[in-house]
Amino acid sequence: MKFAQEFHFPRKWVECAIPYGQLKKCLKKVTKELEEIGLDKETLTRLAADQQHPPSDHTPADLAFSYHLDVDGKDGKPAESARFRPRLTVFIHLEDGVAVDAKLSPSTRDFLQKLAFSNTAITDDTLSSDSRLSVPSRAFYSSQGSAASNATDIRQVEVPLVFDAEFFRILQTDVSNIGTLQEEEQAKLETQIAALGEELGKAVEPSRGRRAKADLDVWRQIFELYLDARVFFSSRESDHGARTSTQAVEQLHWFQDQVVQRKLVQRLRSGTSHAAFNNFVRINTALLSILKFQEINRLAVTKILKKFDKRTSLGVSTTFPVAVRSGHSLAGNVAQDVCARMSTELISVVPQLDDYLCPICFAIAYWPVRLQCQHVFCSRCLVKMSRKDERHCPLCRADTIMLAGLENFDADRAAFLRKYFPKEVKEKVRANERERNQEIFGPSYNSVHCCTM
Ligand SMILES: [Zn+2]
Ligand SMILES: [Zn+2]
Repeated sequence: MKFAQEFHFPRKWVECAIPYGQLKKCLKKVTKELEEIGLDKETLTRLAADQQHPPSDHTPADLAFSYHLDVDGKDGKPAESARFRPRLTVFIHLEDGVAVDAKLSPSTRDFLQKLAFSNTAITDDTLSSDSRLSVPSRAFYSSQGSAASNATDIRQVEVPLVFDAEFFRILQTDVSNIGTLQEEEQAKLETQIAALGEELGKAVEPSRGRRAKADLDVWRQIFELYLDARVFFSSRESDHGARTSTQAVEQLHWFQDQVVQRKLVQRLRSGTSHAAFNNFVRINTALLSILKFQEINRLAVTKILKKFDKRTSLGVSTTFPVAVRSGHSLAGNVAQDVCARMSTELISVVPQLDDYLCPICFAIAYWPVRLQCQHVFCSRCLVKMSRKDERHCPLCRADTIMLAGLENFDADRAAFLRKYFPKEVKEKVRANERERNQEIFGPSYNSVHCCTM
């Protein structure tokens, strides 16, 4: 088995990838368009620097602009076909119908002033003198002296741009396509995992005989290593969270080395087990490719948005990812979903001893007694606790220990443990006997003496 460092993506994926070059070309047109109307990068940077907070629509404290990516979707919820409608709004000050903002060049002022009067739909949003006086920015206008006169007006002007809409249309379409592709790939993997679960179930079913029992033991070790490797996702505190593809490759290599060192594959006896192992490797490799592809595209989006901001100063690199997250997602964690699926469908077929230990003695919980609070302990530990008059479950502190009787013996669990952990059950039964005998015959008793006597 090999987990490639180099990735070769299927053609369909490559066609879906974020078209960085095309977006770059489109960005050039956006820049040119803004320059032509006097809202070049320098002007917007100057305006943005004075803007402490994003201006709310009705309290422009100063000459300001806002750039929103509105999502067109039904009922305010972004539909799958949702489109971003970028909207550049500039607030300008008019005195006696003349734009007065000194920060703008005369031609820009002229352009915005014309826009303010030509766009009747927008003039509805024009702030009236009354509402202007009620907003917190009143002090600002008063301190301007003459600005307090009725002749000053603040207009909210929507600047019509063409190419930014095109830019976001391309970007959004591709993010959405990748989302769809990702969902398809995830569904495929989940089907494969379900099939593998069945295959594995057959390979390790203990009632099938000694080969299956031996394979069960090997698979348990394989999955124990796999869980230790935390390939795609770590729940450990020190490195919590999703792994990058580079980390995942490293973890898979570690897993691979361990499996080889312990000769686990050679020890698998049935053909079904060998086939299942190959499928397991294939699924991990496929998941790795998805992770890598996702990373490449996420990086392309981040890079092109940074470039967009660098060229325009419109500040989209923070707003676009939020907008994406609310719709089709490039940030969705396929690895995490698929891993969860693997642990339910595969690892549960091969029960791990850790999940069946008694929380008091850390040996297998046999005979299993299920308290009313649903916590399971070995009968031996509960007997000892009740002798010490300890009434409360050590896990949840419920007053359940003294209530336990024969009816709390979990027969199903006991049968399950005998089936999947015969060795551990035998050892535990022996240990229980030894302990009981020592209680009767004194601490010097041990079973070896008993046999030789
Ligand atoms: Zn115990
Ligand atoms: Zn409890």
